[in-house]
Amino acid sequence: MVVDVHLESAPAESQLFKKPVYIAGPCSAETEEQVMNTAVPLAAMGIRIFRAGIWKPRTRPNSFEGVGSVGLRWLQRVKKETGMQVAIEVANVKHVYEALKYGVDILWIGARTSANPFAVQDIADSLRGVDIPVMVKNPVNPDVDLWIGAIERINNAGITRMAAIHRGFSSYDRTLYRNVPQWQVPIELRRRIPQMPIITDPSHICGNRELLFDISQKAMDLNFDGLIIETHCNPDQALSDASQQVTPEGLKKLLERLVLRDPEVKEELMLTLAALRDQIDKMDDRIINMLEERMKVAEKIGAYKKLNNITILQTKRWDDMLKNRLQLGTRKGLSEEFIVRLFRSIHQESINHQTRIMNEE
Ligand code: PEP
Ligand code: MN
Repeated sequence: MVVDVHLESAPAESQLFKKPVYIAGPCSAETEEQVMNTAVPLAAMGIRIFRAGIWKPRTRPNSFEGVGSVGLRWLQRVKKETGMQVAIEVANVKHVYEALKYGVDILWIGARTSANPFAVQDIADSLRGVDIPVMVKNPVNPDVDLWIGAIERINNAGITRMAAIHRGFSSYDRTLYRNVPQWQVPIELRRRIPQMPIITDPSHICGNRELLFDISQKAMDLNFDGLIIETHCNPDQALSDASQQVTPEGLKKLLERLVLRDPEVKEELMLTLAALRDQIDKMDDRIINMLEERMKVAEKIGAYKKLNNITILQTKRWDDMLKNRLQLGTRKGLSEEFIVRLFRSIHQESINHQTRIMNEE
């Protein structure tokens, strides 16, 4: 069942963000010097919200787990000296108290935490009566209801200035991305809670700085509301997420290259187009997997022919096969010319696979 969620929306003048909002800063606050050396150039280029991890949820123990509360003093200095607002991740009640004590402006709930309703509810309870903006990252698994549930828990505690952060989804398969974007999930969130700003986190989607631009541009093309991009004064030396961070200068270049879409183009149109393209991508994926399977069968045939001394090409078989595919294809509305070209090409690839097997020692 699809439930429409209505969040109490904030009055326009208190909206958390003017579109598009850019949030930047290091994955982790490491030293006072690193924080200031990153914050000052960011402020100079017009960034208004500075992010930094104080407590870091690391996948494996014995890696850098954040500097803890001492880093909150450095963020106070960022606020005072640059005028930027500061944002940090909170994962438990202690983090919330510390953040509020040190005057942190914006909180976010990380992907591992938003996958856990108990943890989110504890955080929500600790925020009752507090007026602070909260951003909720998508849970690590692609479950839009779980994401909405986390947003609702925070909203039900009286927090009205909210945003969602799309940071991609973990996958067991090796992919181009550290966390697969699965755009259909934030698109569904937009459909279900149209008034919720959605910020894209290309850093955690990509896991590598080379891919950041394309994901950022795609987020803008989908009319999402902003970007949160990990930025470090010396990315290669970063204590966490080194390969995905950019320098303030690199971020500036990225933002300057972004093409902001003509707002005249209807959002609905873009979202529909994106959903359809997603379908095409999935189908092409299936076609490729099936071709892989088909080639494996061709190789088995090759091995069998070799064993029994049969020639690869048997013209009668190919003629019959093509006739059959033509009949089937034209019935499905595909042109004769296309079917012939497609199956000639598939057949040729099969022969290549068979030949390879037959020539193997
Ligand atoms: C982060 O923003 O540094 C972070 C830990 O992100 P996520 O919760 O998306 O993994
Ligand atoms: Mn990070």
